[in-house]
Amino acid sequence: MQAKQVFQSMSPYTPGKQIEDVKKEYGLNQIVKLASNENPFGYSSKVKKAIPQMLDHLEIYPDGYAKQLRDGLASKLEINEEQLTFGCGSDEIVDIICRSYLEKGTNTIMATPTFPQYKHNALIQGAEIIEVPLINGYHDLPAMLDAINQQTKVIWLCSPNNPTGSLIPKDELINFLDNCPSNIIVVLDEAYYEYIERSKKPDSISLVQKYANLVVLRTFSKAYGLANLRVGYSIASEEITTILNITRGPFNTTSISQLSALMALEDEDFLEETYKRNIENKVAFMEFCNEVGLDYYDSEANFLFVKLPTSGDQLFEFLLTKGFIVRSGEALGHPNGVRITIGSKENMEVLQQRIKEFLANV
Ligand SMILES: *Cc1c(COP(=O)(O)O)cnc(C)c1O
Repeated sequence: MQAKQVFQSMSPYTPGKQIEDVKKEYGLNQIVKLASNENPFGYSSKVKKAIPQMLDHLEIYPDGYAKQLRDGLASKLEINEEQLTFGCGSDEIVDIICRSYLEKGTNTIMATPTFPQYKHNALIQGAEIIEVPLINGYHDLPAMLDAINQQTKVIWLCSPNNPTGSLIPKDELINFLDNCPSNIIVVLDEAYYEYIERSKKPDSISLVQKYANLVVLRTFSKAYGLANLRVGYSIASEEITTILNITRGPFNTTSISQLSALMALEDEDFLEETYKRNIENKVAFMEFCNEVGLDYYDSEANFLFVKLPTSGDQLFEFLLTKGFIVRSGEALGHPNGVRITIGSKENMEVLQQRIKEFLANV
């Protein structure tokens, strides 16, 4: 049995370490996971309360059109309901875009390092990958425009960028869209949109209304804290959305995930609390880094990429033994650093002590 040629050089996604595995391996009782940018404050208590009532009819297929969630989101974002596509996480929308627009003989442009799923899914479709190095954590948009040729079909912008956290400034984004040929799909992945400081937030929805080739990706996995329920979505022109909905599987979100997402959307207090605490804890962590002489990339997300005098793996392994799981830059295409999710105040204070201990011995 021979899979597509490209599989010979690919492997399955290696997730961050799992809490239970680390407990066993190191004989620890308590583990703090700061590796996957999950919400350290959990998720809306209103959703938690409502979930038991959603279990009555698991024998019935969900509404594949996600009508209730669609209506709620469309009115919140002030867009037409026909501009939304829901996915099993925005991960699935990335795959749907690749399956819809990429094939052998086409190419796709992205930053490096960036979110790995763009490359992964594009490769499976047989597209050529053009990677443009970041500059100090930021997308090099002029170089990305220069990389465009006749075969270019999709360009990926990740903002804030995972793993660096850097946000594409509003004016640069608009300039990019003005200069990008309108027959090329531009995907703006805003998985961390809710974490961006208010004054810096681009008005991405009005950009979608202006640029018919723009696809914005958002998710309920990060600030809303519903990573386990797998709901992400895209906002795009009706023309693009029609295509994405042809590719999409008919029942790719569940009733539980749809209703929970809708309730999470309505719990603005939880989101506000998450936003505020993240900024407070992130600022405190940046101050700590300044104090101990560690450099990091600008971040508008709920994580910080810290540059190290050692390999990322060294700090990663050290912190594991102390009960903290972070993400080594080694796995993210940036060996001398670690990506650390901003956790609760208490956990961050202990983490900082541990990092100090590490630095004292290198
Ligand atoms: C986490 C993440 C996603 C995917 O999230 P889903 O859980 O699949 O919605 C997409 N893009 C970026 C940049 C991410 O960090």
